[in-house]
Amino acid sequence: MAKYIGPSCKLCRREMAPLFLKGQRCLTDKCALKKRKYPPGPPKKRRTKLSDYGVQLREKQKIKRSYGLMEGQFRGIFFDATRSKGVTGAIMMSLLERRLDNVVFRMGFASSRMQARQFVHHRHIMVNGHIVNIPSYRIHSGDVIEVREKFKANVVLEESIKLSKAVSSVPSWIEVDYENKTGKIVRLPERIDISAGFNEQLVVELYSK
Ligand code: SF4
Repeated sequence: MAKYIGPSCKLCRREMAPLFLKGQRCLTDKCALKKRKYPPGPPKKRRTKLSDYGVQLREKQKIKRSYGLMEGQFRGIFFDATRSKGVTGAIMMSLLERRLDNVVFRMGFASSRMQARQFVHHRHIMVNGHIVNIPSYRIHSGDVIEVREKFKANVVLEESIKLSKAVSSVPSWIEVDYENKTGKIVRLPERIDISAGFNEQLVVELYSK
């Protein structure tokens, strides 16, 4: 599956919002948004007033980039949401949250979604006792997520857990046992559980054109 390999901070500067793509660095003065408070590109092209389409596009890009997805993956999730009963935008956000890489990040086992994706790719994560190396794997209620035994004492993992505990809390739809490095999905995430300032309705409007 294709992935973005360019500079992460440029994505935040493009959206002019912190997307927290680099773990600890995002909390320090090294954050590019603190040093360069303007979008990338030549000054003439930095438009200040956006059209309605521009506003919708930027919001879609912000959500997509926060979860580290490419256009095709994001669109796929949106269309899965349109096929489900309920409010499309809210279901889309729930489906994004249910990705395995996001769940590992939310559990605090990784300091960013990018790192969580790497842990999954490198076969360090098990779901219900089986190794799963697919970051887009969709978790279900009752699933047990566990760090593999041989990775439990890893220094990077320990550092990530320490950082995550210091800066964020585990959402109520997940239970985590840091001692044994396991977690359980108590229930599926709902829109209200996702505190990030996203306006998913703009994405629905954009894709409905
Ligand atoms: Fe974004 Fe983090 Fe880079 Fe800051 S340090 S610009 S929040 S990725």
